[in-house]
Amino acid sequence: MKIMPNRLDRGFYLYQREFEQKALEVLRSGWYILGREVSSFEEEFAAYTGSRYCVGLASGLDALWIAFRILGIGQGDEVIVQGNTYIASVMGITINGATPVFVEPDEYYNINADKIEEKITERTKAILVVHLYGQASNMAPIMDTAKRHGLRVVEDCAQSHGACFQGQMTGTFGDIGCFSFYPSKNLGAFGDGGAIVTNDPKIAGDVRVFRNYGSEKRYYNQVVGTNSRLDELQAGLLRVRLSHMKELEEEKRGFCERYLKELKHPDLLLPGIREGATHIWHQFVIRTERRQELINYLDRNEIGTIIHYPIPPHLSEAYQYLNIREGSLPITEKYAETVLSIPLYNGMTADEQQYVIETLNSFQ
Ligand SMILES: *Cc1c(COP(=O)(O)O)cnc(C)c1O
Repeated sequence: MKIMPNRLDRGFYLYQREFEQKALEVLRSGWYILGREVSSFEEEFAAYTGSRYCVGLASGLDALWIAFRILGIGQGDEVIVQGNTYIASVMGITINGATPVFVEPDEYYNINADKIEEKITERTKAILVVHLYGQASNMAPIMDTAKRHGLRVVEDCAQSHGACFQGQMTGTFGDIGCFSFYPSKNLGAFGDGGAIVTNDPKIAGDVRVFRNYGSEKRYYNQVVGTNSRLDELQAGLLRVRLSHMKELEEEKRGFCERYLKELKHPDLLLPGIREGATHIWHQFVIRTERRQELINYLDRNEIGTIIHYPIPPHLSEAYQYLNIREGSLPITEKYAETVLSIPLYNGMTADEQQYVIETLNSFQ
């Protein structure tokens, strides 16, 4: 049996008729940018997260850098972020000229809240909280630290649609929650897409103007903005997927509970869940000192895996200019050397999962 790490086609076929109907409806409408689908999606997604406002954007990266731009965080400012994140989190900070300051992760792969304070300087303006792999970060102490130091909080929820900390949705703790709808995310589009959520009407208004060349009224430009619009087709298709989020989340949770229960191998460390947090399982990430051996073995058995992520941002070529030497973030670097994401996707069959479990358990 051949198993791929992800199968986006399965997610499509689960609701094929609804997706196809919506696509035809949008194509036939003659209205493709900033119309009814986008405004309906914005309302529905705001309600889903429990935020007052949602503004659709062209990608998750745009959501991040536009968030920092609107908060006025750039050149000369520092933003605290976990070291083991996807590089887009860091680019969201540096596109505006701000400097990322990396903090080591905890055992749940999210920022270690106890290690934030020691990194705060007079230049620190914000904490970017990433809810990595789909699990909510430790928000109570993070928000407490931010309040005591007067810092802004931006949340990178690109992997955490629907994940909660103490019953509250990720994306609603800080000033701005940033989402991606890249096809592989838990709420995925069929192309690129993103959004911010916020409870602040001024922030929502500013982002709305900024995403459309700095204009809300056609040809009246208030500021130098950008073009970052969620399009009607993606918004319509996202509305279909959003209406099934509960089932999709439950299905993935079921798969992961099975992995947690049935994977038994002394060399594989399974993911844990923080008390008070929920995990929506964007990825099921294990850790092993024998990673390359395991990848080769799974490869021979036609099971695909992905490493999220093999090179931490501070060691990537793009960020050599930060001059952060190897060895300065030992936990982050250790994770980069040992993490592995095993197959997980909506529409996975019980047989497929059985095969992955048996193969992993038989790793010699
Ligand atoms: C996917 C992702 C992004 C970027 O989203 P895009 O829509 O691809 O621009 C940002 N941060 C994290 C943690 C991500 O996983």
